[in-house]
Amino acid sequence: MGKSGSHLETKLIHAGDPETPIEGAVSMPVFQSSTFLYSGAGSYHDLRYIRLNNTPNHLALHRKLAALENAEAALVTASGMAAISVVFLALLSPGDHFLVQGCLYGGTHSFITKDLAALGISFDFFDGDHPGSWERLLRPETRMIYAETMTNPLLGVADLKAVASFAKNHGLVSVIDNTFASPVNFRPPEWGFDLSVHSCTKYLNGHSDIVAGAVIGRAELVEEITHTMNHLGGSLDPHACFLLDRGLKTLAVRMGYQNESALKIARFLEAHPKIEKVNYPGLASHPAHERARALFDGFSGMLSFELAGDVKVADRFLENVQIPFVAPSLGGVESLITRPATTSHSGLTPEERKALGISDTLIRFSVGLEATDDLIEDFKQALRV
Ligand SMILES: *Cc1c(COP(=O)(O)O)cnc(C)c1O
Repeated sequence: MGKSGSHLETKLIHAGDPETPIEGAVSMPVFQSSTFLYSGAGSYHDLRYIRLNNTPNHLALHRKLAALENAEAALVTASGMAAISVVFLALLSPGDHFLVQGCLYGGTHSFITKDLAALGISFDFFDGDHPGSWERLLRPETRMIYAETMTNPLLGVADLKAVASFAKNHGLVSVIDNTFASPVNFRPPEWGFDLSVHSCTKYLNGHSDIVAGAVIGRAELVEEITHTMNHLGGSLDPHACFLLDRGLKTLAVRMGYQNESALKIARFLEAHPKIEKVNYPGLASHPAHERARALFDGFSGMLSFELAGDVKVADRFLENVQIPFVAPSLGGVESLITRPATTSHSGLTPEERKALGISDTLIRFSVGLEATDDLIEDFKQALRV
């Protein structure tokens, strides 16, 4: 079994570390060296250099990240968007076509609709709830299907099992953005996905102090993607690798707490007369609750809700809350709250937002590690005034 054990909690602490601690250090040292002695590498990609993603800090993280999702390989990147964009750029060529889920992370949405479109790579949106409608979107040049574990900010859960098997049946590469669930709650390779991508900026690092990303999955795909990334230059600095590894060690403890806290807060909000609607896959009222229960080990720390009233009511609520920071991003130790119409989805037109179901009074909440009762008391007072 070895030091990494067979459970995720143990892997988070030990997987990937050198078998013999370096100089006896129980914590992986930072190798802050851009280049390393030439040792007979036959290929450009095997030279040791920070941009080539292969310093000891990168390699230790790659092993850990792969172990967490029971995958073959992993690549750590300079940001979540670096991971997402390199997957598309490495695996798709001009003339190719792919399928993407309807409600995507804003950065991914604009990358696909603007940058990839400019390269002659086309796509169609698929409806995650209706696998029967996907086949007619296929073309001879369709190469990939791309989904998100939970959509932002409505926390929709697509039929992910169907996505992976649809890809297998039609020879497509299946890719999923697993940022919102984290490997604690969902491990895409176990469901047949070829690749998962993460913004490690969020839960994996968990402390809102670095930006990082990862691609995890099948070894031959990760190698191809790594070679493209070596050219694009989006490697993670060794010190950020060290911080990400340190953050990962507490992921299971943090995520377990956030899963529980978010469920309690979602239940409180659902029962509150000034709240119109709560979106949280852990609630029995969520349209995909049964599906989420089958897929996930926990429902994560993200939820969103609509306040009764207009934009003024929503803005007043944001002014009144005292504990959460009003700030974009998510998955940190501190609770963060936003109004997506003015943050993550401000790049969309009001019509596009309406079509996606993102109302102007929708509030998105990332539950931190504060006491659940303090957060509930804070919401109570903010809703009272
Ligand atoms: C934040 C986020 C990204 C982008 O990650 P960065 O680290 O900010 O580049 C991608 N997908 C999801 C779901 C995210 O929440």
